[in-house]
Amino acid sequence: MRELGRTRQLLMAVIVLYVTVITAMGVVALRRRWASAPEATVMPGPPSPTHSPVVTVSLPTSTPFVTPTRLPSPSADATVASHQGSHDADIAPGPTPDGTPRSIRLPILMYHYVSAPLPDADIFRRDLSVHPGAFRKQMEYMYSHGYVTVSLYDLVYALTRGLPLPERAVVLTFDDGYADAYTNVYPVLREYGFTATFFVITGFLDTARPGYITWDQAREMLEGGMDIEPHSKSHPDLSELDYDALVYQIVGSIESVEANTSHRPRFFAYPSGRYDDRVSEVLRMAGIWGAVTTHNGTRHSSDGLLALSRVRIHGDTGIETFAALLDWDGDVE
Ligand SMILES: [Zn+2]
Repeated sequence: MRELGRTRQLLMAVIVLYVTVITAMGVVALRRRWASAPEATVMPGPPSPTHSPVVTVSLPTSTPFVTPTRLPSPSADATVASHQGSHDADIAPGPTPDGTPRSIRLPILMYHYVSAPLPDADIFRRDLSVHPGAFRKQMEYMYSHGYVTVSLYDLVYALTRGLPLPERAVVLTFDDGYADAYTNVYPVLREYGFTATFFVITGFLDTARPGYITWDQAREMLEGGMDIEPHSKSHPDLSELDYDALVYQIVGSIESVEANTSHRPRFFAYPSGRYDDRVSEVLRMAGIWGAVTTHNGTRHSSDGLLALSRVRIHGDTGIETFAALLDWDGDVE
């Protein structure tokens, strides 16, 4: 009997030890999980017309994305839903590069005004202004020829993690946040089911400057599937600023977008396309994933996320030229 009692005691001790160890391991794992998920409480981002309702519960790990078993090319699979990255981006600390260098051809179209310039407008303003009729024609062309819009988030996931992009993918960007972005651009995009990125000069929205969209409109556009990202606080030449001013312009505009939209921005447009290594370094430290320039080109590489080329759409860009630009593969300094 004594032998049996000791065996039972021993067994109990082993069970207690086992349970204790398992519990401790669970607590440690849970702690790790939360520690690696600093943004788990960030609001889910813009609902996008192309993906299903937002998943609010997440169990983020350091690499929340399944690496595709094959290496997709940009045109590999037209059926793959775009914007997957756009949504997931809000709960991820950032795309973890898988170490594979990639180059992707994808036109990032650059617009400024979409409104008729006043009769006394100078040559620069005319060049920056696309007539609303011409803009609609361009969107109609894209729609009827099977082009689809993806976000800059999708592009970064494709470059860093190999996530596939749909065939004939295009990114639309609008700089400066002019009032016509809300009145002339947004309704047309909605009509065609397109999305776009709007780079806003946050100081102008903060002071409700006439001629620019408001934060209310920005929020509405974000809810409608658009991306709202910073373009500095007051549009200075960043390459001429001292460090403190640089941080103020970059971090200040990021925080302003986040405070006003509950969405942490991950992209930046260099004002007038001016930047240097210092500027890019501050962007990197501020958690920016990618930045668009005014370099003319359609090729992007996984090691050049802070120097993304774009394709400028001019006031006099005709539909044939527009069509050719969509299929252009190249870079011009
Ligand atoms: Zn600008």
